[in-house]
Amino acid sequence: MILAWINDIYEGVASTLAGMRLTWRFFWENVRRRGGATAVTRLYPEQPAEVVGERVRGHLVNDAARCIVCHACDKACPVDCFVMDLERTADNKPRASRFDIDLAKCIYCGLCVRACPTGSLSMTPAFEVEPRHQGQPFLFRRNSAQLQLRLAEPDMQRLRQLSQLPRAELSAEDRAWLDSVTDPAGEHLIGIFGLGYYTPEQKAAVEAERARKKAEAAAKAAAAKAAKEAAASPPAAASAAAPAAQASSPQPAAPAPPPPAS
Ligand code: SF4
Ligand code: SF4
Repeated sequence: MILAWINDIYEGVASTLAGMRLTWRFFWENVRRRGGATAVTRLYPEQPAEVVGERVRGHLVNDAARCIVCHACDKACPVDCFVMDLERTADNKPRASRFDIDLAKCIYCGLCVRACPTGSLSMTPAFEVEPRHQGQPFLFRRNSAQLQLRLAEPDMQRLRQLSQLPRAELSAEDRAWLDSVTDPAGEHLIGIFGLGYYTPEQKAAVEAERARKKAEAAAKAAAAKAAKEAAASPPAAASAAAPAAQASSPQPAAPAPPPPAS
């Protein structure tokens, strides 16, 4: 009985020391900054957290030029973060006229990035609540209700421009305006990624240009078809004319019958 009790104590102490051995090893590696590891607790945000792991899953960003609005990311997302609309360019190529990611819902699982077939969607190392400190090209503090809000292109441009500025450089007017178009009340981390939206005029212009190109292509195709038919028609006409010519030409006289035998 006493031996079993002593054995339990021994095993408890031994397993604690074994676990602590790993903890101490990582602790000293971090203190000595081996392998780039700096997992020592920082007084963030008073101290900058400038070093993050290579595989960190930070904020999402979409390269609009490569996005084909296939909705693969949308389908992969377990919490329905995406709101997107498809438009066609004048060249009839798909592009996003709207691409919003509700970062208040995002759990940073990265499934959308894996699903993206064009590689347009990626996760940046950025993780700060206030990206304007870092000059990140996207804004935050927009809640789900505001995802329904559509901004005119000049406002979008202003929003993008202000998002590039450090907070200290924002004027009182800029801040007031940002609060009016984003979310002054909430602490939501909700992003608009600045793809912008077509204004009705831009949309109409793109549609008109697309229709013009379509009509031009159709006219070209019709002309090519007519030319092809014209090129194919002479032999057909000649073959049709041949029997008629044959019928109108004088037939050779039939040989005279032999004289009757006397
Ligand atoms: S990272 Fe965010 S947006 Fe992407 S699938 Fe996960 S929850 Fe959805
Ligand atoms: S999966 Fe990629 S290409 Fe498709 S809509 Fe999402 S971001 Fe765009």
